[in-house]
Amino acid sequence: MFEKKLIIVLCHISPPYFVMLMKELKEVILMAEKWDVVIIGGGLAGYVAANILCEKTNLSVLLLESRRKTGGRAITEKRNGTFFNLGPHALYKEGNAKPVLEELGIKLSGNPPGTSGILLEGATVYEAPFSPAGILKTTFLSWRERIEWARVVMKLNNTDPQTLAHQPFKQWGEQTTDSFKVRSLLYVLGRLATYCHAPEKASAKVMVNHMKLAMGGTIYLDGGWQTIIDQLHNRAVVSRVQVRTRNVVRKINANAVNGCFQVVLADGSEIIGKQVLYTGSPNELVSILDHTDANSALSFFREMKPVRAATLDIALKRLPQPARLFAMGIDEPFYYSVHSAYAKLSESGQNTVLHVLKYLREEESGPGEGIQDELHKFLERIQPEWEHQLIEKRCLPRIIVNQRLPMAEDEKRLELAEKIIPGLFIAGDWASPDLILSEAAVSSAKKVALQMIQNE
Ligand SMILES: Cc1cc2nc3c(=O)[nH]c(=O)nc-3n(C[C@H](O)[C@H](O)[C@H](O)COP(=O)(O)OP(=O)(O)OC[C@H]3O[C@@H](n4cnc5c(N)ncnc54)[C@H](O)[C@@H]3O)c2cc1C
Repeated sequence: MFEKKLIIVLCHISPPYFVMLMKELKEVILMAEKWDVVIIGGGLAGYVAANILCEKTNLSVLLLESRRKTGGRAITEKRNGTFFNLGPHALYKEGNAKPVLEELGIKLSGNPPGTSGILLEGATVYEAPFSPAGILKTTFLSWRERIEWARVVMKLNNTDPQTLAHQPFKQWGEQTTDSFKVRSLLYVLGRLATYCHAPEKASAKVMVNHMKLAMGGTIYLDGGWQTIIDQLHNRAVVSRVQVRTRNVVRKINANAVNGCFQVVLADGSEIIGKQVLYTGSPNELVSILDHTDANSALSFFREMKPVRAATLDIALKRLPQPARLFAMGIDEPFYYSVHSAYAKLSESGQNTVLHVLKYLREEESGPGEGIQDELHKFLERIQPEWEHQLIEKRCLPRIIVNQRLPMAEDEKRLELAEKIIPGLFIAGDWASPDLILSEAAVSSAKKVALQMIQNE
């Protein structure tokens, strides 16, 4: 109706006035789509950067998210009155992400999980030696091995991860201890802290960095990680960030318009940004970036492999074995933890929410057939007849936990990428040379937001 009236009005305008009017309209449209900063991706990294930019400056900020909902991998799904994160999520108590979020005024309510638990090797169950009491009680290690394990843990705590650059984790493990069992515990702790199940490839620097953080404790969050996203979103919107969902970016054209970036969406529309922050995946960045020189330099991003896992998220009426709250496989790469024992994860506060996870190797990134059975069987060993108590379950057979399996040689490449196109920034869980997971997502977002402010 409006369009019809507009056409009738335009038909009655004389040609010179029509040309002038169209020019003005074009200006208005272009102005509306010109932004100081365009952020691609509404996950943790995108939102943290948006919050910092708006808190410290008057820059106009547009955040584009391809999905129906923002949050990325930090979303929490509400099912049958219970809150499911996308698999188990724990925030490091002594990491880099927590202080950045707190500086932004984000309330992080929840509790640290206990340090006791069990280890499974085949059908045998051992006490996990992840606390002084656990070391004393465990029968997994002989007395000699317990002393060796305590020595290795102390060494880990005193190691400066920067001294381990260019070294794979396995090599460091072999240099650190001759004991096969102690090494297998190191790999269990490494998986727990990083989700990486590739000791022969993963960077010792990143693994040890995260293992040290994990030993400082974690927090399971009440209501799930969605509570972080919701607070970041509300603060961003109040600070004038414009958030648009269902906006898939198909192309970033560097230096297209007066030194600015042209961001092209899936529907063909174009947005101009003076600076652009990309927070999607390294692979996608290479394919959507339109810049000949950068494309060849960034082609190594295509080689980056994600860290994947299979998760089984479960809500039960009650636990058949209430004392079993945490378990790890030794010979098989499995994780189990009851998150609702430490965080409120159901509306009533009565339901049990637990996560089972299998750490996947790169070569296991196939269709995931039979994986759900494997997860069920592992849970059955810890909580026999759990299915009789079932309220809700969800299996994610090969979810990306981190966009980059951190390799020793990545560091230089990431530094190089930072400087390739002035005005184009990257952040996310793959964009930090020293960290992965939310630690990298949040700290890289803070770093680039401050650089963008300096650029202005
Ligand atoms: C099973 C599992 C367990 C985990 N456990 C932990 C844990 O215990 N501790 C921890 O610290 N971290 C954990 N993580 C990792 C953590 O969730 C992520 O590192 C973090 O959420 C990543 O945030 P991000 O912003 O970098 O990326 P994402 O959350 O992936 O956000 C990127 C966003 O960009 C959007 N996007 C991509 N391309 C485009 C495009 N072309 N146009 C528009 N939008 C686009 C995506 O839709 C997405 O919303 C876990 C993850 C999983 C899956």
